[in-house]
Amino acid sequence: MKQTINVTRSSMPGFEEYCEEIRGMWDSHWLTNMGVKHHELQAKLTQYLGVDRLELVTNGHMAIELSLEALGLTGEVITTPFTFASTTHAIVRCGLEPVFCDIDPKNFTIDVNQIERHITEKTTAILPVHVYGNVCNVEVIDEFARKYNLKVIYDAAHAFGVRYKGEGIGRFGNASCFSFHATKVFNTLEGGAVSYGEAGFGERLSKLKNFGITGPETVEMVGGNAKLDEFRAAMGLCNLRHVNSEIAKRRLVAERYRERLADNPWLQLNLVQREVISNYAYFPIVIHENPLGVDREMVMRRLASNEVYARKYFYPLTSEFSCYKGQFDSEKTPVAKEISRKILCLPLYADLSLEDVDYICNIILSCKK
Ligand SMILES: *Cc1c(COP(=O)(O)O)cnc(C)c1O
Repeated sequence: MKQTINVTRSSMPGFEEYCEEIRGMWDSHWLTNMGVKHHELQAKLTQYLGVDRLELVTNGHMAIELSLEALGLTGEVITTPFTFASTTHAIVRCGLEPVFCDIDPKNFTIDVNQIERHITEKTTAILPVHVYGNVCNVEVIDEFARKYNLKVIYDAAHAFGVRYKGEGIGRFGNASCFSFHATKVFNTLEGGAVSYGEAGFGERLSKLKNFGITGPETVEMVGGNAKLDEFRAAMGLCNLRHVNSEIAKRRLVAERYRERLADNPWLQLNLVQREVISNYAYFPIVIHENPLGVDREMVMRRLASNEVYARKYFYPLTSEFSCYKGQFDSEKTPVAKEISRKILCLPLYADLSLEDVDYICNIILSCKK
C-alpha cells in the first residue's frame, strides 16, 4: 500500500547529531535566557540570511507582535488578508487596525498599485507578506514608506534564505519577521527571528522579549516573554548545517511539478520571479475554470482518496474569520477572495521523491467531471 503523503514533512537532523549538540547542557545546566547556543545561532543566522542585525524569538508570531510594539505604532496598518492568521492577529492584538489591500493575481503579494488609496491620516505602517517566499515589490513599498513617513514590517515567515538582487530578503523595510516553525523551510521546532537595521529598534526588541529586564534590579519596559531556549537553538544549529541541501532537494521537487503541470492553461503555477533566489517553500496551484469541469474541491478530494493531502493555503481569508465577523468585507479584496477559493498547495518537502511527484501529478491531470 502506498504511504500517506502530507503537504509537508519537518526537516530533522540525525539523532546523534542533535545529541552531540545538546551534550554540553548537561554540564552547564544553562537551558535558556540567551545561552551559548542562542548566541551561536544568532550569529550564524545573521550571516546566512545576509542581514545586518537579527534577534531570535520564540516563534514567528511573536516576531511580528514585538516588532509592531518596538516601533511604537498606533492607528492603521495596511496589510493583506491572503495570509496565515498570525499576520492579522498580531496587528489586532497590538491594538492596531488592519486595513486590507488586495493582492497581485500573479505572485499573491500586496498589490502595490492599490496601496496608496488605503493611506489615511491614521496610517502608520505597512505589513506586507512575502507569500510562499515570493518577494513583495520592495522598491515601491520603500518609496511609499519614505513619501508618507510609514514604517514597513515584512512578514517573511515563508521567505527564509530568499535573496533579491543578491541581497538577503531580511534587509528590506524596518523589520522582517521569520518563522522557524516545524513546518517551515528551516525549523527550530518552534522559533523565529526579526532582522532589522536600526540598533535602537533591536534594543527595544531584546527588552520586550525578556520582560523589559535590563539588569538585576532594573526593569525598563513592560515586556513579555519571547525567548528562544537552548534546546531549540541547538536544533537550529543542526538544521542550519543541512538547509542548503534541503533547499536543493526542494528545488528538484518543485521543478518536477512545474515540468509535469505546465502547458495546462487552467492550472496557474506560481510565478518565477526575476532576480529572486527562491527557497522553494511551497508549490501552490490555482485551478481556474475549465471545460473539464474540474475545480479545487474535486482535485483535493481525488488526491485525498489516494492518500495525498494537499492544503487550501490560504483559505479562508483572514478577513473572513469568524472572530472578525462583521468587521471587514472580503468583497473589497476581490483578487484575494478569488485566489483563496481556487488555490491549493501541493505536497512539497525535501524528501518527497520524484516518483511521488509524478504520482500526484497523474492524479491531478486525470481529473475530470
Ligand atoms: C508560520 C507563519 C507565521 C507564524 O509563525 P509561527 O512561528 O508559527 O508563530 C506568520 N505568518 C505566516 C505567513 C506564516 O506562515
